[in-house]
Amino acid sequence: MTSLLDLAPGAARAALEAWLAHRGDPAYRLAQLLPRLWRRPVRRWADATDLPAALRQALDAEWPLPSLTLEVRQTSRDGTEKMLWRLPDGEAIESVLIPEGSRRTLCISSQAGCPLRCAFCATGTMGLKRNLAAWEIAGQVRELLLGPEPVKPTNVVFMGMGEPLLNWPAVATALTLLNHPDALGIGARHITVSTVGILPSLAELAKRPEQFRLALSLHAPTSALRLTIMPIEKRYRLPDVLEAVGAFRRRVTFEYVLIAGVNDREEDLAELARIAKSAGAMVNLLPLHPGGAPGLVPASQRRLASFAAGLRRRGVEAVARRSRGLDIAAACGQLRVMRGDAGGEVPPEPHGDVHEPVRVGERSHHPDA
Ligand code: SAH
Repeated sequence: MTSLLDLAPGAARAALEAWLAHRGDPAYRLAQLLPRLWRRPVRRWADATDLPAALRQALDAEWPLPSLTLEVRQTSRDGTEKMLWRLPDGEAIESVLIPEGSRRTLCISSQAGCPLRCAFCATGTMGLKRNLAAWEIAGQVRELLLGPEPVKPTNVVFMGMGEPLLNWPAVATALTLLNHPDALGIGARHITVSTVGILPSLAELAKRPEQFRLALSLHAPTSALRLTIMPIEKRYRLPDVLEAVGAFRRRVTFEYVLIAGVNDREEDLAELARIAKSAGAMVNLLPLHPGGAPGLVPASQRRLASFAAGLRRRGVEAVARRSRGLDIAAACGQLRVMRGDAGGEVPPEPHGDVHEPVRVGERSHHPDA
């Protein structure tokens, strides 16, 4: 049976309306039920004590509300919080909450595991377990609203486990649930989809009327170099991805993990500047999370800064970020891997998507800023 939490607001309303009518319940109940899905959520209908007990029982029997089970919650010295959620079928996913001034950015997962196997990423080592349902994606925010100490994220980024554009139907619904005023009500400009550039779904995302932000995980400025660290390059070539990104009417961010000796050379800098300029993109430079794939070494903090400066000199907006939550393995994919849950004897290896800007004397132009 479909869960109400898997439906966009209009469809959930229609389903409940029909159900209430069938039971002979008054229509005004609808206005009491709908906010309990997302806006003022309850874990069980039994907790919605403004409703008659018999109705609550019937709802819990016929429209049970699924939930994620919090298995681990860790807080970093820098305030970053990492959650490991257990799903109903035993799979595990992670979210990371990153406070920064008045912003609370939640990094969410779109798949359990990931099939892409990027050379530098921890999640890739476990392969794809399965796609998440829409409720499991948006549910990562819903669970935070439920408490014990309720938190409402101001920003959401799809930079946790998985490739969102390989799970498009569920992600499409989850985007609606995150953004819709009758659901979680987070502004589209505060929601960032991060992708390696899956062309068919990228075209679908571009068709959405909401102003969702797009981050492209670039990591190499040429197709040949990208091929050495991102197997997806065989399927969707960089020139085509850049063309698709160009057709996106909105400002795009390039994500670029700086790996010493691999993609941090002067020629890489020049080429990155060239393509960022022609795409009108800003660049987020990310330090490779330490303990990464064997043989891959993070570029130094100095190189990160000089790379950013080189981009700016060439007229490209660039932000050098620094890692957050290192002491709690806050990089997505890391916690599940460390708990021996990865489906193999993989080393604890980070998946660095937990970054904050290093203030380098200029305003941050990060999409979440
Ligand atoms: N599959 C999507 C979203 C998940 S990855 C994507 O690729 O965009 C989120 C971001 O974290 C991506 O930019 C990814 O390349 C980056 N990332 C992965 N492993 C990393 C590591 N070890 N260090 C730093 N960033 C990493």
